[in-house]
Amino acid sequence: MTQPTLIDGKAIAATVRDEIGRRASELLASTGKRPGLAVVLVGEDPASEVYVRSKDRTANELGFHSVKHTLPASTGESHLLELIGTLNDDPDIHGILVQLPLPSHIDESKVLRLIKPEKDVDGFHPVNVGLLTSGEKDHALIPCTPHGSLILLKRTLGSDLSGLNAVVVGRSNIVGKPMASLLLQESCTVTVAHSRTKDLPDVIRAADIVVAAVGRPEMIRGDWIKRGATVIDVGINRLPAPEKGEGKTRLVGDVAFRECQSHVGAITPVPGGVGPMTIVMLMANTLTAARRQLGFPEDK
Ligand code: NDP
Repeated sequence: MTQPTLIDGKAIAATVRDEIGRRASELLASTGKRPGLAVVLVGEDPASEVYVRSKDRTANELGFHSVKHTLPASTGESHLLELIGTLNDDPDIHGILVQLPLPSHIDESKVLRLIKPEKDVDGFHPVNVGLLTSGEKDHALIPCTPHGSLILLKRTLGSDLSGLNAVVVGRSNIVGKPMASLLLQESCTVTVAHSRTKDLPDVIRAADIVVAAVGRPEMIRGDWIKRGATVIDVGINRLPAPEKGEGKTRLVGDVAFRECQSHVGAITPVPGGVGPMTIVMLMANTLTAARRQLGFPEDK
């Protein structure tokens, strides 16, 4: 039995992060400007608070100009829209991220549409979605999780993914759809599966690349995965872990990791796979946005 390659998201994220730090210093030396990121959090969702803290911390560690706006859950939609307008006009802010989900009285898509596309570091604005799907991704800001997942795939399989069969399980705007667009542009043969897909195990058995973005703990079983396939597990699911102590939990992905060990080619662990890449790609997008806004030439 050969051991599968464990795709070390932490290590790969660290190398991408070093490169971002180097390029941010280059930008500062040439323009006197730091990439500026504004993160907006509305409400007190504990998971969102953790994400926002870690985004702010990473931006600070990279020497970015980082601003955090924490607003109460009762914030009115017009107040939030006003804040976005101010950030859109602020020349020191190159990237704006509104942490989702927003409280239910706020129209999420209205807020996301107001962010200037060139500052939309989440890549959710319709202009960025359009650029990505029409094959102009070099002018877009690409959603962080799928972009990070693509980098993991290329670091594992090499830069040429053409002709490979890729199955993306999940069709959300945040992960599944942009992931499918990216893989299509890499000339993979792409299938997007979702909750209405028939015979999901057989669909997955045909895949050289499986990207799981479902949000159901270990739903994808080991015997659904073809021998030698590469598995990117985006799912983050928290399960009770009484063996660790009362009230303790553990994280698992959407793929039954242990069942895959005997036959997959490579697989991301959860945690330590896709997660570390997501935050680093947010920093990469902020740097890209800053370079474009400051008229600094893009890397080819
Ligand atoms: P969504 O809930 O928005 O989408 C889930 C998708 O899974 C939907 O398209 C849904 O299909 C599909 N689905 C649900 N049940 C099944 C099923 N039984 N069979 C096949 N498909 C199914 O989730 P997200 O895309 O936002 O996130 C997915 C997972 O990734 C979550 O665990 C989330 O926490 C994680 N995540 C991790 C990130 C990271 O940084 N590592 C970042 C973002 C998300 P349908 O459309 O038909 O309902």
